[in-house]
Amino acid sequence: MMDPRYEVLFETVKIGPVTAPNRFVSMPHAIGHSYLMPNGAIGIRETRAEGGWGIVSMQLSEIDPTSDLSGLPYERLWDDGDVRTHAKSNERIHAHGALASIELGHTGIRSRGISNGYPAQGPSVLPTLKPEMPLMARAMTKEDIRRLRENYRAATRRAKQAGYDIVYVYAAHDASILWHFLQPAYNRRTDEYGGSFENRLRLFREVLEETKEEAGNDIAVAVRFAVHEASGPKRITHDGEGRAVIAALADLPDLWDVNISGWSRDSGTSRYDAEAFQEEFVSFVKQVTRKPVLGVGRFTSPDTMVSQIRRGVLDLIGSARASIADPFLPRKLREGRIDDIRECIGCNMCVAAETIGVELRCTQNPTISEEWRRDWHPERVPAAKTREHALIVGSGPAGLEAALVLARAGHHVTVTEAREELGGRVTREARIKGLSAWGRVADYRLYQLRQMANVDLYSGSALDADAIAEVEADHVLLATGATWRRDGAGRSRLTPIDGFEDVAVTPDDILDGIEMRGPVVIYDDDHYYMANALAVDLAAGGLEVQIVTPLPTLAPWMAQTLEQPRMIGELKSYGVRMHPNTTATGWANGALSVMRSDTREELPAIGGATLLSVTVRMPDPSLSEALAARGIAHRVIGDADAPGTIQSVVFSGHRNARELLGQEPAPGHFKRERPTLFY
Ligand code: ADP
Ligand code: SF4
Repeated sequence: MMDPRYEVLFETVKIGPVTAPNRFVSMPHAIGHSYLMPNGAIGIRETRAEGGWGIVSMQLSEIDPTSDLSGLPYERLWDDGDVRTHAKSNERIHAHGALASIELGHTGIRSRGISNGYPAQGPSVLPTLKPEMPLMARAMTKEDIRRLRENYRAATRRAKQAGYDIVYVYAAHDASILWHFLQPAYNRRTDEYGGSFENRLRLFREVLEETKEEAGNDIAVAVRFAVHEASGPKRITHDGEGRAVIAALADLPDLWDVNISGWSRDSGTSRYDAEAFQEEFVSFVKQVTRKPVLGVGRFTSPDTMVSQIRRGVLDLIGSARASIADPFLPRKLREGRIDDIRECIGCNMCVAAETIGVELRCTQNPTISEEWRRDWHPERVPAAKTREHALIVGSGPAGLEAALVLARAGHHVTVTEAREELGGRVTREARIKGLSAWGRVADYRLYQLRQMANVDLYSGSALDADAIAEVEADHVLLATGATWRRDGAGRSRLTPIDGFEDVAVTPDDILDGIEMRGPVVIYDDDHYYMANALAVDLAAGGLEVQIVTPLPTLAPWMAQTLEQPRMIGELKSYGVRMHPNTTATGWANGALSVMRSDTREELPAIGGATLLSVTVRMPDPSLSEALAARGIAHRVIGDADAPGTIQSVVFSGHRNARELLGQEPAPGHFKRERPTLFY
């Protein structure tokens, strides 16, 4: 039964001519499936509708070919040929009682003219945005502006035809032409579309009025607007023109969907932003408009959501990441199953999937993007044909996820863990400053497993091949993890570095509680969070820390998770000295000898009391080899198979369990999206 405290979240909300069945909105966000992969995309959206989200949104959908984000996984509603797919998506959303919305937009100077040969267009001649390309956008003529308005209208008509309940006018982030016209930094026009605030707002207002006209009394019109973007001078801020825009258009849209920009601020990770971090920027909006207000803030706690509603900050709770991590969040809440919610850990692996252009991935939810092509459901696992006994050695994220899938299928599952605490790397890494949310990966799974009568969890129980053989389990899964290399071999250099093996400390030593002496020299040839998170942790503990990396910048993977600039700022604030573009050649007498990575010219050595080597992790194959020698069939999963991110090892645990259950097609033979052949 639902806790009465949360009833307010299930109230209906009137949005112009339509009514949302509750206050939960699965936001427009990239899902890694472009218009080229409609089946997978529909699978994601339908699952959310099934999971109880009152409004399920289509990601950014381009209105015409002058807005072209080719190569990035976005949607299109360019012409009537696109309507059918959208209509099918909406049919599946409506079948579960949810409303469907579409974020219609034109990406302006963010477009990639290189793809179809139409130059990107903007208010003025401007450098195109992201990625850095040697191209400039052209300044739109009055005729272009007229055509843009007409195309917005036409796209709205198509959205209506496709059955959407809410259509967006998109003016947020750096990916909207309306936003580009509004920004004084971008708009250098001298006609009635440039200069004064009213002039810069003109196109936005016109498009909004015309969209309202087209929507009529049938569907609602939402505006998505970033009230704050403080990345440089002459920008929109919540206490300046951000507020003025809301005041000027106050009751024109049926719904205000407000956020902050750029994307790295909008999608802050748990390492840098607390839940509800956007409140300070958007809380004024409800005072300026009478229309409902929707906002985001990596909400995962129902109490925070309730507080936002009760205190008059928001009317609707928007979630991108929470709905990725747990598409059934609203339904679980409604059914009084709050402890079953799989909480987002705020790691932004989902964002990284989009920035590198693959299907949406999630650390907490391995079933995302697999709903259609692999038939994986986030909550249900088909029952196993016969009840068998699975022994899982190792209780890290891979072992726990495999255990959960097998236990849900009805098998008897035994998990053994050598350490006294369960959870493997996530439990250990969660103790590093800034990474406490990582622990949720183990917490969620352990809570579920502890409720199940067919599961035994043993800690302090290291198994060797003899002990495994004695168990006589029907299935054996080795989820024994991996350990950090000590010898300096890493990602950019595959061979050991002189002097490392005997003296270097590794992250495993630190997580085991070794006493660290400063000054510490960290050698980072891993390029993700471990080296910099430990640098901050050690520096916060009072040690002098330097960090050396062979690449031109620190931790480039963190650019994909949108964290890199903030991570570098954090290192600076803790006084950590950084040495990018610096390759280690050896460690001797308390000093790291180094050279420039590009020119290979020798640089002054970097001295320290402790060398911390953070390069790559390696599995230990000996247990698997010993089992093979005895003829004991087994699977090696997670980091023990291919050391990777927490996301990749959770996925490995899930996939291996489904394979074991016989629920998986042959490797690579999941359903594929096939383009139409016209020849
Ligand atoms: P993954 O990320 O693949 O889940 P982790 O490193 O997080 O891997 O977890 C592996 C766990 O397996 C660790 O907690 C480790 O203590 C445990 N482990 C390793 N070898 C054994 C063993 N022989 N018996 C039991 N537990 C083991
Ligand atoms: Fe949350 Fe990480 Fe999943 Fe993204 S990948 S939804 S941030 S847990």
